[in-house]
Amino acid sequence: MTVKKTTCFAIAAAAFFCAAFFIYGRTQAAAQQSCAASENYRMGTYVRVTLYGADKEKLDSALKETDGLLVELEELFSANIASSDVGRINTARGEWTSVDEKTYSLISRAGDTAKATGGAFNPAIGDVVKLWKIGTPQARIPEAYEIARALRNTDYGKITLKNDNGKFFVKAPEGMALDLGAIAKGRAADLLKARLLELNVQSAIIDIGGNIDLIGKAPKRGLWKIGLQHPDHPRGEYFGVIMTPAASVVTSGPYERYFEKDGKRYHHIFDPATGHPAISDFSSVTIIDADSTKADALCTALFVMGRKKADAFLKKNPEIAAVFLLSGKNEALVTPHAETLFQLTDKNYKKSIIGGAKQ
Ligand code: FAD
Ligand code: MG
Repeated sequence: MTVKKTTCFAIAAAAFFCAAFFIYGRTQAAAQQSCAASENYRMGTYVRVTLYGADKEKLDSALKETDGLLVELEELFSANIASSDVGRINTARGEWTSVDEKTYSLISRAGDTAKATGGAFNPAIGDVVKLWKIGTPQARIPEAYEIARALRNTDYGKITLKNDNGKFFVKAPEGMALDLGAIAKGRAADLLKARLLELNVQSAIIDIGGNIDLIGKAPKRGLWKIGLQHPDHPRGEYFGVIMTPAASVVTSGPYERYFEKDGKRYHHIFDPATGHPAISDFSSVTIIDADSTKADALCTALFVMGRKKADAFLKKNPEIAAVFLLSGKNEALVTPHAETLFQLTDKNYKKSIIGGAKQ
């Protein structure tokens, strides 16, 4: 079992990015650019931020600000912090809770995504998550009656929101526990990106536990190169590469946060219909999108849907750029919009199309 997640990574700027950058960038770009990087444990994962620019002092100060913002967001969005907005909603026993605008808008987005994905993404899954405790030393297989009880409180349609003259409130039924673990890292990446752009940072990598957001042009190369972790191989070995201008690249999979019992693996992405870890055709789902919030929530949802439902969903939403690995088969599936962004590097795998008009 691991708690650290690095499902995809920036190849041109791996592990400690600045150092890697200087190795690759022994050219004009290196001479003109400075770099500042940090690694902090936030939101239950490692967050690595790397900024590039001309003024090192400015970069260092921007880096400090991004970490301050992350701490602030964790204290709003975390289901594990009793005093967070989410923690307070969960213990409000069905009463209105006053929340920050950022929490209000994230829960609103989460509700919309839940509807759009037919509940495959479900922000009201908190009771199920708490029951299994996956990612903690107490991880266990709950009894069937416990799962049935937890599922009673997962109707996301019962979450209500109120904007009262610029004051924001959320209400969830008594017994319901919100969990924004499948969307909040994406939102955090979007908010960090917006702040860095305000601070005039021209080029950056934000990596929140494999939830990657890229700003500007990659140093030297222009396009960013992101390796997609091979689910069955040691960390750092990738099956393919995303080559993209600034975008968010987010991966969900069952191979980083799980426990095993009697030879069976139990992972952290739940099927809200069963309350069990989702049985998916996929071993990895990646979305490439300008909007990291959307990418984060969608790759969790598509994983839960599995191939057939995902294919139907992608046909209705042909603008989505996604890459999937099929579990137990040497095959990657890409949507038409991801075709030009994705290069399969594992020679033992073949590439096919999913979704879109081409199939
Ligand atoms: P994703 O697929 O993006 O999300 C999976 C997570 O979303 C699950 O862990 C669960 O929480 C939830 N989920 C599962 N199934 C569904 C579903 N069908 N629909 C909607 N949601 C679902 N982890 C810790 O161990 N300790 C911490 O203190 C901690 N604090 C956190 C604080 C915040 C604000 C956030 C966002 C996460 C925190 N985590 C913590 C969780 C940790 O980082 C998770 O590993 C991470 O959120 C899961 O992301 P993922 O990209 O691996 O998977
Ligand atoms: Mg997600």
